Amino acid sequence: MEYRTSLWVDWCPGCGNYGILTAMAQAMAELDLDPLKTVVVSGIGCSGKTPHFLKVNGVHTLHGRAIPFATGIKLANPELTVIVNGGDGDLLGIGAGHFVALGRRNVDITVIMHDTQVYGLTKGQASPTLPEGVQTKALPGPNIQDAINPLLVALASGYTFVARALATDVAHLKELMKQAIRHRGSAFIDVLQPCPTYNNVYTVQFYREAVYRLEDDPGWDPLVHDPSEEEEKRLKAMAKAMEWGKRIPIGIFYHNPLKPSFEERLQRRLGNYLEAPPARQRISTEDGRPLIDSEAVRRIFR
Ligand code: SF4
Repeated sequence: MEYRTSLWVDWCPGCGNYGILTAMAQAMAELDLDPLKTVVVSGIGCSGKTPHFLKVNGVHTLHGRAIPFATGIKLANPELTVIVNGGDGDLLGIGAGHFVALGRRNVDITVIMHDTQVYGLTKGQASPTLPEGVQTKALPGPNIQDAINPLLVALASGYTFVARALATDVAHLKELMKQAIRHRGSAFIDVLQPCPTYNNVYTVQFYREAVYRLEDDPGWDPLVHDPSEEEEKRLKAMAKAMEWGKRIPIGIFYHNPLKPSFEERLQRRLGNYLEAPPARQRISTEDGRPLIDSEAVRRIFR
């Protein structure tokens, strides 16, 4: 099954988006995802075009609003596999509140962050993950704002699968995507993505020299085997997430399959949610008349 559309891809030559797109198409193929039951949701930014290039359902939404759209889609129809693509500006700038809320709820959605440290679509301004003191080529001087660490935010918010990858290491990224999609709960992958057009500091060369894989350390075990380990594993992941500079870890930082997803909690509360989610409920009679008494609704709001 081919998961790429034939649309012309108009990202700049050498952009890390190509690696992310390839890894997504390969992960979908290897997981044999049903295109009719898979939805890719994006916000605004260079990454926002991702759904156009994949032969599954796609929604290109508003700036910062990919996560609420995706949450609505997933909760209306929990049978779907839902993936969000967003830049670091989209997800951690204007969309930061939604990013936190998704982790708190542990909705079964995979979030893939295209982390370029700049706003590429609007000519390279500093985005939330650019460290203070760093001057990329479109900036008039060094950045005077502190950076957000996406992994720390995800871990503190409650995401139950937290990983980091490099856009140019497609095979490794694809494997992480497969695990994130299979994970039952909110999964987050921070993808370090070179933007050769506007970010001349964090280049392919820089990352190649700095990154190392967590799984190469036989002592690293991010999996929560028992609820009593949750806090300890999360604290270890947070400490590891602080490493940046000459050595940058990639791989899985935290994986907790024991926490119930939001859908499971809804099922416990409602009893029949998974059998009769909103997408399966009848909204009209055979002859098209609405089942809701709209006059009664109007009376409530009058
Ligand atoms: Fe990629 Fe940067 Fe070009 Fe956007 S501006 S397409 S992120 S290289």
